[in-house]
Amino acid sequence: MVLAERVSKNFGTNKVLRGISLEVDPGEVLCIVGPSGSGKSTFLRCINHLERVDGGRLSVDGQLVGYRQKGGKLYELKLKEAALQRQEIGMVFQRFNLFPHLTAVENITLAPMRVKGISKAKATARATELLERVGLGDKGDAYPAHLSGGQQQRVAIARALAMDPKLMLFDEPTSALDPELVGEVLDVMKELAKSGMTMIVVTHEMGFAREVADTLVFMDEGVVVEAGPPRQILSDPQHDRTRAFLSKVL
Ligand code: ATP
Ligand code: MG
Repeated sequence: MVLAERVSKNFGTNKVLRGISLEVDPGEVLCIVGPSGSGKSTFLRCINHLERVDGGRLSVDGQLVGYRQKGGKLYELKLKEAALQRQEIGMVFQRFNLFPHLTAVENITLAPMRVKGISKAKATARATELLERVGLGDKGDAYPAHLSGGQQQRVAIARALAMDPKLMLFDEPTSALDPELVGEVLDVMKELAKSGMTMIVVTHEMGFAREVADTLVFMDEGVVVEAGPPRQILSDPQHDRTRAFLSKVL
């Protein structure tokens, strides 16, 4: 579903990604951990083309991110085309980013109605279904300010799912939450993983990674230092840098 081949990205002279290669098969969950500034968010942003890669190749579902092929040549996508490609990828951020002036249901129906032209009735029915799925069946009419952080994040997940993405990206979805609210969000993500969604999750929740990830990647300074089954990485890291990092977070 996702194939990264020697992906590099610079901000000026700052080499943020220095040849990232990895693969995520359909239905797999990949967790990424690593110190602050190691390039985790930048990598996610490259996958949905919020950033343009400077080198290497990145494809999602067989399509080169940000480009289309025609007559053996590559053309960079125009803004509108890139937006179409991005629709297939759901993203959930650390901050919930809900529209404060819209109810939970309105937050969820906005993109399907505006972008996909789905009728209000249909979009609302789907939103209600998705809210039930994330355990918020009774909160459809609530505004974000009246929801806890954990509830807001679950609405944000439902909102991403409303676009029927092939792939879900999560960038530290629980780091801004009070500790007692983390579990309810992780539970929704676990259910999503079980349902077969392909997911890339940047997280510091090692318990989640151990239980849910098919592959755990440790990134540092723009490279994949180590990748493998989470049990193996967590109990028997091969690199000093991985060991040093894990000793701080475990
Ligand atoms: P954290 O754990 O703190 O979220 P991270 O691993 O997600 O860190 P990134 O946010 O990807 O790290 O940042 C990697 C590097 O890229 C940092 O040095 C950061 O300052 C730099 N960077 C990120 N975005 C930009 C940008 N838009 N312009 C310039 N530099 C940037
Ligand atoms: Mg980050």
